[in-house]
Amino acid sequence: MRHHKCGIPKNIDKKIPGSFLFIIPVFVISFNSFLFFSCVRAEPARMEFILGTICSVNLYGLGSESVYNEIFGRLREIENLMSVNIPSSEISRINAAAGIEPVRVSEETFNVIKRAVYFARLSEGAFDPSIGPVVILWGIGSGSERVPASGEIAELLPLVNWRNIELDEEAKTVFLTQCGMSLDLGAIAKGYAADEAAAIVKKALISRALIDLGGNIIITGEKKDASPWRIGVQNPEKQRGTALGYLQITAAPNESKTVVTSGTYERYFENDGIRYHHLFNPPLGYPAQNGLISVTVTADVSMDADALSTAVFVLGFEKGFALIESLDGIEAVFVFEDRSVRTTAGADFTLTDKTYFIKK
Ligand code: AMP
Ligand code: MG
Repeated sequence: MRHHKCGIPKNIDKKIPGSFLFIIPVFVISFNSFLFFSCVRAEPARMEFILGTICSVNLYGLGSESVYNEIFGRLREIENLMSVNIPSSEISRINAAAGIEPVRVSEETFNVIKRAVYFARLSEGAFDPSIGPVVILWGIGSGSERVPASGEIAELLPLVNWRNIELDEEAKTVFLTQCGMSLDLGAIAKGYAADEAAAIVKKALISRALIDLGGNIIITGEKKDASPWRIGVQNPEKQRGTALGYLQITAAPNESKTVVTSGTYERYFENDGIRYHHLFNPPLGYPAQNGLISVTVTADVSMDADALSTAVFVLGFEKGFALIESLDGIEAVFVFEDRSVRTTAGADFTLTDKTYFIKK
């Protein structure tokens, strides 16, 4: 009976067109990454399209074929659980049951949603995994994107509210309490997947690895010469792979560090000379406009860096900076439309493109 009461609003039954990003906003600058492309090792790096993005893994000749298989198998497993583009995924099942009934899910899907809700609370709703209806309405990256009428947006806004995600820890169920609500883990799931891939590397006792899930980068261990890893921060005005500077990070053997960017250039469309990008301000249902072009976050845990880069972008510089500074072991680089760049105190960032400038 409850099914009949829960009429699905007309925008909600559309497929979300790749809610994971198809971009490479940060990348590794190193001799090793050059080798990666020249493919001159016994165990070449592998690249596959998963989670709506190009996923590449480089075990620097230290991993067997079976380790690569295990990593990519794991990434597919996560995609099958958490993608909104796969109708049988647990997220799709939760969304289909919005306003109807709780859905029992795997422990890992439950935990990712729980962490997403944690960051929603921490960012006071700037990060909101229930952003699904807004993402679908705008369709950015779908090929049929458009600027919706303000009335259409206003109609959906009550559906975007992380407080209406009910989690039952015992039963491992997730319930979206309102008809038409939908989850979108596009801002956090790739980070989780990167952490899981890194865990396989560690379990296999591989001393060095680079995992890049469409710009969600995680490195494990030390480079061969023990020099810091250099992770490029994308120049938003240039071709993919062109850095405006780089972050230096180091990880002890069997330890991981991650660098994740959220940027307006990752996915957008233009209409009447205005750029509409994919990072939404949940209370408004519009792309967040605050002078930022990108936010890059470094951390130990990629899921956290992923959620935070999106959250901080939407929060804007002042609140976002304060949030990052309040967290241990997390640093950020902010790139603005006026080409200024700011960093938190502990970020080891070097600017290389002198058309940009560091602002203290
Ligand atoms: P990211 O590149 O990690 O910042 O993720 C961006 C993706 O997250 C978008 O393409 C949407 O699918 C989703 N998204 C957009 N705005 C938000 C938001 N405010 N909170 C959570 N997810 C969002
Ligand atoms: Mg994110």
